[in-house]
Amino acid sequence: MAATALGQIWARKLLPVPWLLCGARRCASSNFKAADLQMQMTQEPQKKPSPSEPLVFGKMFTDHMLMVEWSGAKGWGQPRIQPFQHLMLHPACSALHYSLQLFEGLKAYRGRDQQVRLFRPWLNMDRMLRSAQRLCLPTFDKAELLECIRRLVEVEKDWVPEGPGTSLYVRPVLIGNEPSLGVGCVSKALLFVILCPVGSYFPGDSLTPVSLLADPAFIRAWIGGVGDYKLGGNYGPTVLVQREAQKRGCEQVLWLYGPDQQLTEVGTMNIFIYWTHKDGVLELVTPPLDGIILPGVVRQSLLDLAQSWGEFRVAERKITMQELLQALEEGRVREIFGSGTACQVCPVHQILYEGKNVHIPTMEHGPELILRFQKELRAIQYGTSAHEWMLTV
Ligand SMILES: *Cc1c(COP(=O)(O)O)cnc(C)c1O
Repeated sequence: MAATALGQIWARKLLPVPWLLCGARRCASSNFKAADLQMQMTQEPQKKPSPSEPLVFGKMFTDHMLMVEWSGAKGWGQPRIQPFQHLMLHPACSALHYSLQLFEGLKAYRGRDQQVRLFRPWLNMDRMLRSAQRLCLPTFDKAELLECIRRLVEVEKDWVPEGPGTSLYVRPVLIGNEPSLGVGCVSKALLFVILCPVGSYFPGDSLTPVSLLADPAFIRAWIGGVGDYKLGGNYGPTVLVQREAQKRGCEQVLWLYGPDQQLTEVGTMNIFIYWTHKDGVLELVTPPLDGIILPGVVRQSLLDLAQSWGEFRVAERKITMQELLQALEEGRVREIFGSGTACQVCPVHQILYEGKNVHIPTMEHGPELILRFQKELRAIQYGTSAHEWMLTV
């Protein structure tokens, strides 16, 4: 059994996707098309939030959603833009029992020219397809899904807030919908996309730093696991750890890994350190995509930006707690920060480790690099020129 599973994982690397495992994937090659979109407009549009109201993340949803149904027998149905509504699920639904569920998160921004644009959505489509393959959920044509999402955001354009740091959060989801308690490849699935208007992560543009709990007793992801996929199952178990961090006076969790206590991620953000490496070279470093790191879109964007400036070394390399402590002692650390769609960049000023609060001098350094990244990203996201990272809605 184990040998077969391993064989399948290797086969995955060698064979084109439609031939992969899950024998009965008769329709794995079926696709839905944006040209077939059916439109069902709501008769009861809600009042949009007023610009003065603070928006709490993920609590308010727009009037419409995208829904596409899949069955093994018929393949993908026609995609629909329909009024935002509850799902009806069989109580044995496999997403609920075995976490056959994956999601994405990306944002649409209203530019100063009023044009709405999505930030690097192609990377989210790539990641979503990888996640679907990992869970043996049906695959889809990434370009067609993206066009359906673009149309949904177009319908909901008036929901995209205006103002610094605000956006429309796009949450695509794919769930197995097998009405059976057997653990296996599903014959039914649902793909849907919902939208939330969100306010600025840093109210008043304050760039407030966060404190972290670094406790090696908690492990987010491991080699051979699925921490490098955005699967719902990776996140539920982190709630208790996050609560533990708060109990100990920290805002987020610094996820360590392995006997050498590698720094891997911060909460649901990738981690970056801007420092002088022990070889004396100024660099920006983040852990490599070796299987335990979520391949963040903002992570990639910061690497791309820093690389394009060519002003310091940009490295993807393992970072251990011991290396960090030594660098702090020698005064080589400039800035530590997290990156992710929610906040873009988030400074770190303190790490609670082995019962001691370790101060990180991020804010004392400006934070020069964090502010520069924030400024550059905002120029691209809210700018008026067509940037290759932005998809115009
Ligand atoms: C989503 C996520 C990130 C950030 O990814 P972005 O695409 O940059 O938003 C980082 N780490 C984890 C664990 C995540 O789930």
